[in-house]
Amino acid sequence: MTTKKSIDRLVGEWVRPQIRSLSPYHVPEAEGLIKLDAMENPYTWPPKLREQWLRRLADAAVNRYPHPQATAVKQSLRTVMKIPEQAELLLGNGSDELIQMIAMTVGGPGRVVLSVDPGFVMYRMIAVFNGLEYIGVPLRPADFSLDIGALMSAVEQHRPAVIFLAYPNNPTGNLFSESELVQVIERAPGLVVIDEAYAPFTDASFLPRLGRYENLLVMRTVSKMGLAGLRLGLLAGPAEWLGEIDKTRLPYNINVLTQISAVFAFEHQALFDEQTRAIREERKGLYRRLVQINGLQIFPSQANFILLRVPPERATEIHLGLRERGVLVKNLHGAHPSLADCLRVTVGTPEENQSFLTALEALI
Ligand code: PMP
Repeated sequence: MTTKKSIDRLVGEWVRPQIRSLSPYHVPEAEGLIKLDAMENPYTWPPKLREQWLRRLADAAVNRYPHPQATAVKQSLRTVMKIPEQAELLLGNGSDELIQMIAMTVGGPGRVVLSVDPGFVMYRMIAVFNGLEYIGVPLRPADFSLDIGALMSAVEQHRPAVIFLAYPNNPTGNLFSESELVQVIERAPGLVVIDEAYAPFTDASFLPRLGRYENLLVMRTVSKMGLAGLRLGLLAGPAEWLGEIDKTRLPYNINVLTQISAVFAFEHQALFDEQTRAIREERKGLYRRLVQINGLQIFPSQANFILLRVPPERATEIHLGLRERGVLVKNLHGAHPSLADCLRVTVGTPEENQSFLTALEALI
């Protein structure tokens, strides 16, 4: 007879220990809350644009598989993101899928993924899914800048197949030194992926450097600019690399609704530019207001979120208190020693930011 115990025994016998030891990627319930936890663009589309979009979707051939290469999407991404002509493009179901494809491509016994901590958690999780070893080199705790000496030693010691560096970094929001990143690219034995998920909120980019280095790939996503629901990421770089990584791509990974919606959205890029410009402005205002609150440490950000440190041992209570007042942010206390007492807030609309500030001030 099937019992919980007998299923547990089988699961324990067959699920890889690396997977058993993981916790699932947790997405909290956000129903009815002001959602400032996931770096989404808070702005929607004008009703007229939505109608045009729905008319375009009405023609979708959902009985057919989507275009296997999503060529039209690539073409519009090239234009709106100003991808250098000599760079090849590869698309993923979110940039998460691209990280997974890269790990599968270079994975194997003894292979290492290297990044910095605190950094984007999926680099570590995906390394583990695919049986690679993950090395996280600590950032300097004071300002989350690269510890270039430690990073270079780790690169020499572990000879990583791939190094992921988010630029700006999540969850800290800062840009690493450009010249230090160049050193990493020049000294790395394998691939270096510069993850520009937050590109819409900064002027810095490594895209213009594509073609200058044989081991450089630049990754981007449409999630943060306002299309998180589409799940669309892109990898740009030399055809030789992307041709190999493409072999790990599941057929038809970009679905037909995403393909049509992305092409439509990019025809209206001016709207997203306007929205991301407004978010950058709001970031300035939110930062100015936060630094005026006594007892907080605010970290400068080039992304659409701000990392803040609350008084010792109060992060969880303040996180819950904000939630009770209708505002959901991310509690990072416990995620990494240098994130002790830290919360991360996504820049929302002026009204949302005001609600957050009012609630925070009441709690502090
Ligand atoms: N890279 C970084 C640095 C991120 O913060 C995120 C999202 N949190 C991603 C990649 C994944 O983005 P997506 O899968 O939505 O494209």
